[in-house]
Amino acid sequence: MSTFKAPKGTYDLIPPQSATYLAVREAISAPLKNSGYGYIETPGFENVELFARGVGESTDIVTKEMYAFETKGGDQLALRPEGTASVLRAALEANLHKAGNLPVKLWYSGSYYRYERPQKGRYRHFSQVGAEAIGTEDPALDAELIILADQAYRALGLRNFRILLNSLGDKECRPVYRAALQDFLRGLELDEDTRRRVDINPLRVLDDKRETVQKQLDGAPKLRDYLCEACKAYHEQVRELLTAAGVAFEDDEKLVRGLDYYTRTTFEFVHDGLGSQSAVGGGGRYDGLSEMIGGPALPSVGWALGVDRTVLALEAEGIALDIPAATAVYAVPLGEEARRVLFGVVTELRRSGVATDFAYGGKGLKNAMKSANRSGARLALVAGERDLAEGVVQLKDLESGEQTAVALGAVAEEIRRTLG
Ligand code: AMP
Repeated sequence: MSTFKAPKGTYDLIPPQSATYLAVREAISAPLKNSGYGYIETPGFENVELFARGVGESTDIVTKEMYAFETKGGDQLALRPEGTASVLRAALEANLHKAGNLPVKLWYSGSYYRYERPQKGRYRHFSQVGAEAIGTEDPALDAELIILADQAYRALGLRNFRILLNSLGDKECRPVYRAALQDFLRGLELDEDTRRRVDINPLRVLDDKRETVQKQLDGAPKLRDYLCEACKAYHEQVRELLTAAGVAFEDDEKLVRGLDYYTRTTFEFVHDGLGSQSAVGGGGRYDGLSEMIGGPALPSVGWALGVDRTVLALEAEGIALDIPAATAVYAVPLGEEARRVLFGVVTELRRSGVATDFAYGGKGLKNAMKSANRSGARLALVAGERDLAEGVVQLKDLESGEQTAVALGAVAEEIRRTLG
């Protein structure tokens, strides 16, 4: 134990469990790579203004949860609390939208930081895989993203998740609804913070989890009744495409999500085995975001899935991913000469793609065989002076216990054959 511990609200990914995290990232990104999304990586921090404008001045993420700081050079930066604003900033900066090939489809994977109250499933440092499709308004694109997330979760074996779907309207109909909702909310008994929220972002009051607020919301005007014809038709197409793809969803009028930039389609993936932190992923359309951060009009849609919570969801469903053992062959040299010879064989095997490890530190046979078994290797390669004098090494199948002497020159080939 060192003097230091991981900071509050964070944890370390450690073998063997860390392999599950890698496999989850891989499983989420695989359908994206297969659907025209290119990999993008942006810095872990950005100008704080990008998030203030992009994510929204009234959101908890910006007002309470951002790790914002001034650098020694006087720059105002923040650790990224989410991915979309950065990805859009990068796409605009590189003029990807001008290359004449819209939508620009991008995926990313990385660490995000929010100063939240830590609890199970809610951390100050967490990991997301995300996807953005920038510059095109097409319900098939919204549907595509939802279908790809569904595919990723199913490929992992998850079943107890639900997809919540809503439309938040656009710049035509949302303001009319917003005004009607504000009128209604101003007539309620609300605390000062919430009244301020009514002024800045009334839709988010609908999302308030407190009983005292929720019970007053019966009879609030419904966005559904205010959606313009274009938004209604758009949403209906998204729903039809999902249904045609066999992806089940629930209409959820209360789904507004915690970020200001969403328009039209919003969705969330919730898992029923996770208690209060049940959202494993979410996203939606953000047609106005580009203009908010100084770009041209670029209607876009995207999502981010939480890696940490997806791992928790796997645990909740009792799913152990089938992760191949990191090591296939473990070499055990007995003596100096064997050490030199087997190290050569190990290097050759590794170069030909066989995952191989070696008993370092001059371990005795018993200890080395223990390490071989712990490594999960299928085969052990053992050689002592007598073997070498006869020009052979012993190849031991660690599952069956069977051991055969193989000519030194043929051992790499024999191992490849055995492992298939
Ligand atoms: P959001 O950007 O808030 O919609 O988050 C998208 C996904 O990221 C969520 O559904 C969670 O899976 C994950 N996520 C967000 N915040 C946290 C957090 N503090 N700790 C762990 N996962 C998080």
